[in-house]
Amino acid sequence: MSQSRPTVADIERAIRNIPDFPKPGIQFKDITPVLADARLFSGSIDLLTEKFKPGSVDAVVGIDARGFIFAAAAAVKLQAGFVPVRKKGKLPYKTHEQEYALEYGTAAVAVHVDALKPGSRVLLIDDLLATGGTAAAAASLVKGLGAQILEISFLIELGFLSGRDKLKGYPVRSLIVY
Ligand code: AMP
Repeated sequence: MSQSRPTVADIERAIRNIPDFPKPGIQFKDITPVLADARLFSGSIDLLTEKFKPGSVDAVVGIDARGFIFAAAAAVKLQAGFVPVRKKGKLPYKTHEQEYALEYGTAAVAVHVDALKPGSRVLLIDDLLATGGTAAAAASLVKGLGAQILEISFLIELGFLSGRDKLKGYPVRSLIVY
């Protein structure tokens, strides 16, 4: 018999909080115990994709690096393509880049110029929404290619950082909110 589907609470219990990683003051949400558990990993993909039927999404866009893990699995489940939005300098072909503000300085993400067809239906996924800068920059790259964002989905949202404010105009969904 197949295993029962986990609840969001089951997934939340497996997320490990690592204080002061990678620097003092950050409470790092370690999702590797979720990935290592077959039932929780597959359940998290079911929950992240539950609004969509296979064939209703053309591409799942994942954000470097943990977003790739969830987005790639979601793409297979939805019979969609997978497109990486990577940190600047990592993609080999011609790219569009989008800068965003960090606490100190700026960072940039990039996408291949031909990664999405205009009008394609996209689900954008990352593991965690913090201040929203990364997801907003990724969304802007997707829009810049003329694609349509059906939803931006996260496993985890740090609600106290108000990252959603940077994603106004997009449907945003998070499974677990701290
Ligand atoms: P932000 O641009 O501030 O929303 O940061 C989101 C990105 O940074 C995501 O790709 C996350 O993987 C990563 N991130 C930020 N804060 C954390 C945290 N506390 N724990 C784990 N990952 C984080």
